[in-house]
Amino acid sequence: MQLSLAGQVAVVTGASSGLGRGIAELFAEAGAAVVVNYHGGVEAAAEVVRGIEAKGGEAIAVQADVADPDAVARMFEAAAARFGAVDILVANSGIQQDAPFAEMTLQDWHKVISTNLTGQFLCCQAALRRFRAQGRRPHSRALGKILCMSSVHDRIPWAGHANYAASKGGIAMLMQSLAQEVAAEGIRVNAIAPGAIRTRINAGARAEGEAKMLDLIPYGRVGEPEDVARAALFLVSDLADYVVGATLYVDGGMTLYPGFRDNG
Ligand code: NAD
Repeated sequence: MQLSLAGQVAVVTGASSGLGRGIAELFAEAGAAVVVNYHGGVEAAAEVVRGIEAKGGEAIAVQADVADPDAVARMFEAAAARFGAVDILVANSGIQQDAPFAEMTLQDWHKVISTNLTGQFLCCQAALRRFRAQGRRPHSRALGKILCMSSVHDRIPWAGHANYAASKGGIAMLMQSLAQEVAAEGIRVNAIAPGAIRTRINAGARAEGEAKMLDLIPYGRVGEPEDVARAALFLVSDLADYVVGATLYVDGGMTLYPGFRDNG
């Protein structure tokens, strides 16, 4: 039983930047062949692939909008055509489109829900169908592994971000319901809920003042993509073989409600 992903194939959505990129790179270092999904910006995805190949790993870039069922199906077909199978899905793609509640347009709402929540539904469904079709594979104790990228905002309400928080709250129940449904087949479904990690999604908030952000983080630093990637590697590895339906908070203690520390 080990941390290595040698002989396994991972599809990582939104892997041309941020957390997805960090996960794709670490999984490749651990021996997985990686499908680097991207939405726009082929050059960034190609750079991730080149970086992986330069270290002796295997990867391909595959364009797909995770909210488009045909594109998702094509992505899994491309993965299987190139690498023969899929062992791991990291459903990571996500966006924010923020607005005060009264000003939030229906388009803001639909855009975030369809990328963050429907996108994960479609990718999880495609992965599940593939796991079932290909059956038992060597190199992994599980028949397949799915990791959903959630957020501390699956628990912490977030004013001005109702669409985003609703999408992440939805992912919690999507993940647990799916985990419950497929565990008996040997498929493990889990989630990671990051706190504030240094990526472009929160570049604006960090530019406004990282000190304000640090007030929310007992551990005293903003997270790095590698912090999340290492947790992701553990969860999809055989070391986590008995971890099913869990959400791992990788947040420097943000969900400990640090506001209560000094106001007890
Ligand atoms: P990011 O903006 O770098 O990454 C998001 C990725 O999703 C991008 O690569 C983007 O191209 C991709 N994407 C967007 N729409 C897509 C679509 N329709 N189809 C396919 N891909 C699409 O930001 P990030 O911080 O790396 O975010 C990754 C995930 O982590 C998101 O789900 C986000 O909600 C979650 N998250 C991030 C933080 C943080 O602090 N950075 C905290 C909690 C949760």
